[in-house]
Amino acid sequence: MTQRRLAALIGTPIEHSLSPTIHQAAFDAAGVDWAYAAFDVAAGRGAEAVAAMRVLGIAGLSVTMPHKHDVATAVDRLDPAALALRSVNTVSWDGDRLVGSSTDGAGFVAALADDGIEVAGASVAIIGAGGAARSVIDAVGRAGAGSIRVINRSTERAASACDLAAMARVGRPDDIAAADLVVNATSVGMGIEPADATSADLPCPVEGLQPSQIVVDLVYHPLRTAWLVAAEQAGARIVDGLGMLIHQAALQQSMWLGTVPDVAVMRRAALDALAARSRRADDTGR
Ligand code: NAP
Repeated sequence: MTQRRLAALIGTPIEHSLSPTIHQAAFDAAGVDWAYAAFDVAAGRGAEAVAAMRVLGIAGLSVTMPHKHDVATAVDRLDPAALALRSVNTVSWDGDRLVGSSTDGAGFVAALADDGIEVAGASVAIIGAGGAARSVIDAVGRAGAGSIRVINRSTERAASACDLAAMARVGRPDDIAAADLVVNATSVGMGIEPADATSADLPCPVEGLQPSQIVVDLVYHPLRTAWLVAAEQAGARIVDGLGMLIHQAALQQSMWLGTVPDVAVMRRAALDALAARSRRADDTGR
């Protein structure tokens, strides 16, 4: 009998993470004897968690805030995206060495490809310059975007993020009008239902949005944000944040198992978990 393998999430807080649900659903659907656990690891102790992974023989780690930078210094090798970002969301084994990877940006590009959307040659406007935005800038740069405009509340942070891709420049909110692909990579709109939203819940003014554009929101709670509703009203094609979440997880499993998981199973599990979360929120009057 083969020994059951363990993969795990480390972060804090972790109680709202969809990762355990998504990963376990794909393990079960694949019929592999893998379990997925979630460990609440205090800030500053990410490197110790990597050391524990070595000692315990944990087969794979997903890494979330606040450990992404610490873990990048604790593994033996980084993949190109993790090296550029100095940030790791996945740890896997290569023989007896631990490899740190960053699958968020590649997950974003894979989610668009799954919807038949090609990034190569596109003009891309990215609103935000935090961790998620940096992953997307790095990945769309690698995927051959024609141009990238980075629009952020803090222009210093936008300028620093532009170092990730040769075609990236600091932009202004007006620049969204000229982009093929407009991405909200800020946390603005998170947790706000469109019916309750004000202009403060939009990452930038929506006047420039138009039917020829594809508009993405990385926020996936709620799935249909005020930003996406406004983009749809402007006639644009909209893409929610769940695809990126699912595809970055699918890339993690590909690294751990060496096989491609069933993305449809992962998406269904995530949708069920989000629906259950909304029902609980309704029941408690929130
Ligand atoms: P982060 O590192 O904290 O960055 C937050 C970004 O939002 C910064 O650019 C910040 O601007 C901007 N921002 C925050 N509040 C703002 C406000 N009131 N007005 C204007 N800009 C504001 O967070 P993150 O990790 O990048 O995550 C950003 C969002 O992406 C979150 O909602 C997260 O859930 C989502 N996300 C989704 C996925 C997915 O798979 N779909 C993956 C990762 C993250 P400043 O730089 O000026 O502070």
